[in-house]
Amino acid sequence: MAIRIDGKAISTEIKDELKERVAAYKAAGTDICLAVIQVGDDKASTVYVSNKKKACEYIGIKSLAYELPEETTTEELLAIIEELNGRSDVNGILVQLPVPKHIDEEKILLAISPDKDVDGFHPVSVGRLNIGQKGFRSCTPAGVIQLLKRTGISIEGKECVVVGRSNIVGKPMAAMLLAENGTVTICHSRTKDLASVTKRADILVVAIGKPKFITAEYVKEGAAVIDVGIHRMDDGKLCGDVDFADVEPVAGAITPVPGGVGPMTIAMLMNNCVESVELQKQ
Ligand code: NDP
Repeated sequence: MAIRIDGKAISTEIKDELKERVAAYKAAGTDICLAVIQVGDDKASTVYVSNKKKACEYIGIKSLAYELPEETTTEELLAIIEELNGRSDVNGILVQLPVPKHIDEEKILLAISPDKDVDGFHPVSVGRLNIGQKGFRSCTPAGVIQLLKRTGISIEGKECVVVGRSNIVGKPMAAMLLAENGTVTICHSRTKDLASVTKRADILVVAIGKPKFITAEYVKEGAAVIDVGIHRMDDGKLCGDVDFADVEPVAGAITPVPGGVGPMTIAMLMNNCVESVELQKQ
């Protein structure tokens, strides 16, 4: 039976370590502050923003909340970001996505200073990741790396297969596994004979957005299977992109949904906020 990788416990461990680092910074006279901007009142976004504020409170990071009306224009949002970029008391800036359709999302993400880009979505952050420079790392894939490391699963020299090539998960995931000296293959919707590729994986990361898509026939005996997907089923229960019940008997280690990758994203966002102090010193 596979080891169940406990994302809830690992994320709490990370947050507790961060809490100590934040307290040490405070004692030395440095406060850390994250600005969180939400435009409109999308219900899911409100829940995400509130969870981020709670995590900040837990760790001891100050959060500045901007709750802007739905009709906010791109220019108004850009003006706020510009002001926050210039404030020395603000370490991180996060715009909760998606923004309303009339707002130019690309322009907004580009406007955030790469030195305050705690989501790690700015092209400069992406570039820094790809050439091995210090910088903010996209939170969900960074969380996957921590899950592997803290479960004692080494990446070096392993066959790593990432299914999905989105800018926020698949691509940065592959870059991070490569940075850890994995041998990395990326699969996508045009990959031929997907199972023949995924079956090579010692570490299989799945981020395709299709409920229970990956079954036992895609998995090598003993592989570590990391499920990034999250879906709410008709019965109200959550499930991932991996068919957990089918794959667990074959895998060596596996993340459940919920309680696997999900809790790691906020923990790594908090990590980026704390790291910002060091990055901004350079
Ligand atoms: P996207 O829809 O942006 O990307 C999906 C990727 O999967 C694409 O690259 C697509 O290929 C590929 N794909 C789709 N179907 C197949 C298939 N049949 N075979 C192989 N590849 C396929 O999704 P995201 O990366 O944003 O998210 C993926 C999942 O992770 C979602 O369930 C999302 O909810 C979840 N998620 C969870 C987070 C968390 O914190 N736990 C954070 C972010 C996302 P192509 O490029 O060719 O179209």
